[in-house]
Amino acid sequence: MNSDSRRTSGRDGVEVVDHRVAVCRDAAKGQCSRSTCKYYHIPIALPPAPVMAALASYLQ
Ligand SMILES: [Zn+2]
Repeated sequence: MNSDSRRTSGRDGVEVVDHRVAVCRDAAKGQCSRSTCKYYHIPIALPPAPVMAALASYLQ
């Protein structure tokens, strides 16, 4: 039994561990230069932080 036994490859080579993926921080900044990145690239751009904060407070 090795430590990688729970790892599977998701779509596009994204590494999935325990049904979770790691978000690519480079892609979040639009600076990921890896052609086959094992981290997840969020398909839409997140709103700027002030907008996120406003949405979070609105949803409470
Ligand atoms: Zn990436």
